[in-house]
Parts: sequence; structure tokens; C-alpha cells
Amino acid sequence: MSGTSSDSSDYLEFGCPRCGHVARDEYETLDALTPIDWRCDNCARVFNVLLLECQHCASETTSVALIAAEQPPPQYLVCRSCQRPVLDHEELDDGVF
Ligand SMILES: [Zn+2]
Ligand SMILES: [Zn+2]
Repeated sequence: MSGTSSDSSDYLEFGCPRCGHVARDEYETLDALTPIDWRCDNCARVFNVLLLECQHCASETTSVALIAAEQPPPQYLVCRSCQRPVLDHEELDDGVF
């Protein structure tokens, strides 16, 4: 995936890991740090989406996995905008998860 079409929409976009269909969080159903199950409009199968807000630039980043248990730990995710880890380790007490 290499589309940087960010200007026109504030919607979060994420690709279905099963069929590649791009879904949008038009209704802002995602909560940061809360993995949710999302049904793909295209293939009608469920995958898991995790929303994170970058602690450096406040951009929102999503991570998709087939199931919640396959989501990587959020501290390993990198912000798409500033390319830094979305969670600032120094500001976190351990045991958030
Ligand atoms: Zn799909
Ligand atoms: Zn960032």
C-alpha cells in the first residue's frame, strides 16, 4: 500500500487484510487503543482494527490484523506521519496493557 491521499478526507482508512478492500471509519467508531472487529464491506469477513493516536504529532494510525490476538503490541507501531513510535515510551508507565 502506497497511497498518500490524505488531503481531502479526515476519515481513517485501512485495508482489509483478507481481500485488500479499503475501509473507512466514516462514523468514527474506532476508539484509540481499543481493538475492534470490523466487517469488510467487500468480502463480508471480519478483521480487527486498532486505532492509535501518535503522541508526537497527534496523527491517527491504524493497525489491522485478522484477529485481535494478532495485533502487535502498540508500542511497536510506527506513526505513518512522523515515522516515530506512536507511543512515547517515556511517558508511559509500564502495564498499560
Ligand atoms: Zn475484505
Ligand atoms: Zn506521529
